[in-house]
Amino acid sequence: MGDAAKVKICIDREQCIGDGLCVNEAPETFELDDDQKAVVLDGPGNDLEYILAAAKSCPLDIIVVEDSATGKKLYP
Ligand code: SF4
Repeated sequence: MGDAAKVKICIDREQCIGDGLCVNEAPETFELDDDQKAVVLDGPGNDLEYILAAAKSCPLDIIVVEDSATGKKLYP
């Protein structure tokens, strides 16, 4: 069971360049849509360590991860 439900993930899609690095790190949580921009998938997704690795992999730092229970920012 993944951790995606425990975190709130926001992507600044305007800036996304569609390189897919986040998808490589956490393919059950992120995917590229028809516009070649990253979206967050529904469902349990990947474990938190992979979600954070995906956020860190983004060259534009446009993936924001928060603890959905506490609102604490986990990345960046
Ligand atoms: S790593 Fe960043 S720029 Fe690349 S697809 Fe994911 S959100 Fe977009």
